[in-house]
Amino acid sequence: MKIFVDAQRCEGHGVCEEVAPELFRIDDEGDLVVLFDGDEVPPDRQEAAAGAVRVCPVNALRAR
Ligand code: SF4
Repeated sequence: MKIFVDAQRCEGHGVCEEVAPELFRIDDEGDLVVLFDGDEVPPDRQEAAAGAVRVCPVNALRAR
């Protein structure tokens, strides 16, 4: 599974971080930092990633 972040849409709500803190973090500037390599989510983190996609209030995360 790959996750793509639409930086134009992301408003730094951090709901993704609440659902999947091992994958997403909001930095001190309020920007989203992705904690996995490239776009590819590790196999054991895919459920958490899918949860983050579902809860993002502005649909800034896309899974493929
Ligand atoms: S929940 Fe959505 S808008 Fe909020 S930080 Fe995550 S990707 Fe950005």
